Amino acid sequence: MRLENKVAVITGGARGIGYSIAEKFASEGAKVVILDLNQDSIDKAVAKLNKLQEDATGYIADVTNSQQITDIFKQIYKRFKQIDILVNNAGITKDNLMMRMKEEDWDAVINVNLKGTFNCTQKVSRYMMKQKNGVILNIASVIGIMGNAGQANYAASKGGIIALTKSTAKEFASRNIRANAIAPGFIKTEMTDNLSQEVIDKYAEVIPLNRMGTPHDVANLCLFLASEEANYITGQTICVDGGLVM
Ligand code: NDP
Repeated sequence: MRLENKVAVITGGARGIGYSIAEKFASEGAKVVILDLNQDSIDKAVAKLNKLQEDATGYIADVTNSQQITDIFKQIYKRFKQIDILVNNAGITKDNLMMRMKEEDWDAVINVNLKGTFNCTQKVSRYMMKQKNGVILNIASVIGIMGNAGQANYAASKGGIIALTKSTAKEFASRNIRANAIAPGFIKTEMTDNLSQEVIDKYAEVIPLNRMGTPHDVANLCLFLASEEANYITGQTICVDGGLVM
């Protein structure tokens, strides 16, 4: 068990990539806490996670709400007396060409993806600093490295996450807190389910491994980065993308 007795908080953990990470961590012995928006999805996810590892739990939390996140981390720390791992995974898209992008769609994506990552990092860091131990994993995207037409807001938020990860790594290294970013490529989840087969085929053509990835591919890297095997790795952005970015 690579995460035995560790407490891991995963935002947006009720479904998609976040749930896969929660499942992987629970199956390696972690006590998993998921933060998400919908109580029904949280309850279903927690019920499945508890079959792998007792003590899985979930809270309704909007990562953009600074006060709510402060209160929830306080509750989590009170309950478990430690918070070892934070995975900033909650993310949204609101795509449009820049000329047509509404201000509220720009703000919404920057708020959830970038400010949400900052909020959770800032709130958890006081506990990790006290413990002199912690791992922060930020789910970015290859789009934050490459850019993409029609995703200016998303690309900016994910590029911001990569820069934020480096600052986090530098600021907290002396307290033995590591921070790394994971940049998934084209991963099959509900977020990508609404794409047409034509778009999927077009992407597959430019991916050297010639296929979409799975949430498990992302979760496997997260497990490695969260484990002690990655003790000398911080401030990095690692792509899980079938070779799309190289
Ligand atoms: P999903 O849309 O499948 O899941 C996202 C989860 O985050 C949902 O449970 C959602 O809740 C939750 N969420 C959304 N907004 C908030 C918020 N404000 N506070 C708390 N939780 C929130 O996404 P994926 O699993 O596909 O993506 C997960 C992460 O991976 C995202 O950061 C995404 O940008 C990134 N990524 C995904 C790729 C892909 O190909 N799928 C590629 C590269 C990166 P609800 O269900 O209620 O909306």
